[in-house]
Amino acid sequence: MIDKSQLKKHGNDYGIELSDTVIDTLDVFSSLLVERNKQVNLTAIKDPEGIAVKHLLDSLLVFKYADIPAGAKVIDVGCGAGFPSLPMLIAREDLQMTFLDSTGKKLRFIEDTLAELSLQGTVLHARAEEEARKNVSRETFDFAVARAVANLRSLCELTLPFVKPGGYFIAMKGKEGGEELEAAKAAIKTLGGKTAAVNEVTLPDGSERNIILIKKISQTPTKYPRTATAILKKPL
Ligand code: SAM
Repeated sequence: MIDKSQLKKHGNDYGIELSDTVIDTLDVFSSLLVERNKQVNLTAIKDPEGIAVKHLLDSLLVFKYADIPAGAKVIDVGCGAGFPSLPMLIAREDLQMTFLDSTGKKLRFIEDTLAELSLQGTVLHARAEEEARKNVSRETFDFAVARAVANLRSLCELTLPFVKPGGYFIAMKGKEGGEELEAAKAAIKTLGGKTAAVNEVTLPDGSERNIILIKKISQTPTKYPRTATAILKKPL
């Protein structure tokens, strides 16, 4: 369904090496997404070039900017239909990936896709602010990633509590990323984080991205995350 040689070329252009096997699996994943999208609303992007660039390449950019060691424990907070987590896991099967979302129908697509592609992952149907208060999840991940979930200022409260001190939260943001980061500075500090890098990149279709790395330098105070209402109404 996708133009495989084009995706490989895009990968090369952005310094992301994709084997033929990975490209084939990304292609199967894209077909599964388009097929399920006919029954359940999973993505507004349906054309092959759009999926290749705005979903697959965009998700894989994380590997260009973050050095994620083999076997790292990663959580995708608000994964939806699996972005960036599913392309990441397809490209790096060694990762211990957790898919978290509050919407069950999207997670059923993830479960079916993992089974179809013979991939291992943990699927968590939960609200981030509730899950992050549980000992089994709190400060147990090497990396948290999130794309298109919330404004960075609120998003940090949903993600940083999952990350171990020494780990990173990787925020996959659009062109608004720099401005959001300015507004999120106090929140990042309060939650035990420190901005490590801001990477601006333009996708082949001209759309701008900011991939922001926030390092967890100390534990998050136990009073965070607060309830969804408090996070929304009184962002840190
Ligand atoms: N990350 C995916 C992507 O980039 O395509 C999905 C983005 S979608 C716009 C936002 C997702 O975040 C939705 O699936 C929604 O259910 C989930 N979400 C928003 N707030 C959440 C929360 N507090 N806890 C868990 N999931 C949440």
